[in-house]
Amino acid sequence: MVGLEFDAREEELECFDDLEYYVIERGVCTGCGTCAGICPRIGFENDRPVMKDEYDPHCNSCTRFCPQFYVPSSRMEEMIFGAVRNDRYLGYVDQIVSARSNSDVIRSVSQDGGVTTTLSKYLLESGAVEGVLMAGVSEREPLKPVPIVATTGEDVVGAAGSRYSICPVVMGLREAFDRGMKKIAIVGTPCQVQGIRKLELFSEDRYPFDIKAVIGIFCFENFRYDELFKNFIEGELGIELAGIKSVKIRNNSFELHKSGEVESIPLKSVFKHANEPCMLCRDFSAELSDISIGAIGAKTDWNTVIIRSERGRRLFEEVVEKDLVSLSSDKVDIEELRGMGRRKKRHVEKMSAETREFLTQFGVSEDAVRIYELLIALHGPRLETISEATEIDANTIKEALDSLKERNWIREKMDKTTNTLMYIPERPEVVINNEMKKLNSRLKIAKKKAIADLNSSYLRRIQEIN
Ligand SMILES: Cc1cc2nc3c(=O)[nH]c(=O)nc-3n(C[C@H](O)[C@H](O)[C@H](O)COP(=O)(O)OP(=O)(O)OC[C@H]3O[C@@H](n4cnc5c(N)ncnc54)[C@H](O)[C@@H]3O)c2cc1C
Repeated sequence: MVGLEFDAREEELECFDDLEYYVIERGVCTGCGTCAGICPRIGFENDRPVMKDEYDPHCNSCTRFCPQFYVPSSRMEEMIFGAVRNDRYLGYVDQIVSARSNSDVIRSVSQDGGVTTTLSKYLLESGAVEGVLMAGVSEREPLKPVPIVATTGEDVVGAAGSRYSICPVVMGLREAFDRGMKKIAIVGTPCQVQGIRKLELFSEDRYPFDIKAVIGIFCFENFRYDELFKNFIEGELGIELAGIKSVKIRNNSFELHKSGEVESIPLKSVFKHANEPCMLCRDFSAELSDISIGAIGAKTDWNTVIIRSERGRRLFEEVVEKDLVSLSSDKVDIEELRGMGRRKKRHVEKMSAETREFLTQFGVSEDAVRIYELLIALHGPRLETISEATEIDANTIKEALDSLKERNWIREKMDKTTNTLMYIPERPEVVINNEMKKLNSRLKIAKKKAIADLNSSYLRRIQEIN
């Protein structure tokens, strides 16, 4: 009997230690700021959470609500929209339209059509919320985003435009809490939306917020400010950051807009500096938001708007009725939009053909190997999520999961926060060592048998010849 090794790590996830072990040290932290938003002991340095204090070993909020631990998307979809996704690549969609702000002031500072700024400003000025968590502008480095809680239309307009680097937007919860706010909204990228939604749906009133609107912005990937702007653009390319007024991604270029001139960098060379965890993200369109806003699929300087929830619909209808936003008569290029959603879901799989072939040598099917890779990348997704990312049918996935469980490549675990079953992969070195041991022992037995079998015929033949 071959002895099996197991990951010595405790089964239960608890406290910052686990956030460090599973998320930060493994390089999968997106820098969304959820952990620091709910825990005053956690700060942010270098785009990553750090423990500033003695931590409470009995508190597991940071791991419970971290979107890199587990996002049971189908269950959350049911809770938010009353139904699961109706679009494989875009999530739950009620309506998709092209729109833009009617304000010249907003459009002159916004990234695309200014719908995001208009909605956020309206939420504040209509009294629907007291604060909007969003990415503002660093005073010293205007291309760098910083988390803010906007409380006036002026704050919101001041934060317009995209800054292409990590910003722990959800961390703004702490400021909102300190300022005694209850009714809040958020504008965030897909990972930030996942973090705030986990809190909204699973924290059982642990936090005193009434989240009134979750506005998601499309995001294919993000960057670390120092790495992209300081080291690459300023350091390697010698482009001064000081004169850059805005950055646009257009025509396969990363355009740096200065007063009166545009400097273009090929997007390919910029993508090399993308934030590593973004390569594991499968959500392009902020699928769990009430309303998602982006550019792809719409004409230049217009937005593509995905209306998802009832409250998202009401909010959008209000700004249209009040003549703050106009709808375009042009249709959104849905295929282009879905294409981005699909690309983002598929880029999780990265295993080389050699590794895949090596793993199938243990007698595991190629589908099972792909699923194991996905489980490693995605931290315990559910069946629907696996099917969505691999496009393998549900029955084949179930069979593959059973075989992986039997071979101890994975185990099932009930997530207590969300009360759903998830699949946890064992560590690759443990899995491979176990399989090598089993294979070696099978080979030894087979070798013994083969030598005995062949030797008897061989010796008989030698005797006959002699
Ligand atoms: C990192 C990143 C990647 C993106 N990738 C795509 C893409 O691939 N395809 C696509 O169609 N659209 C993408 N977008 C969205 C796009 O750039 C616009 O934000 C969107 O079209 C809304 O336009 P708007 O005119 O309504 O925005 P505005 O009215 O200008 O409002 C922009 C909002 O974005 C917020 N914001 C700015 N920087 C950040 C940041 N770093 N993190 C979180 N929030 C931020 C601001 O606080 C503001 O509320 C991306 C945005 C970001 C920040």
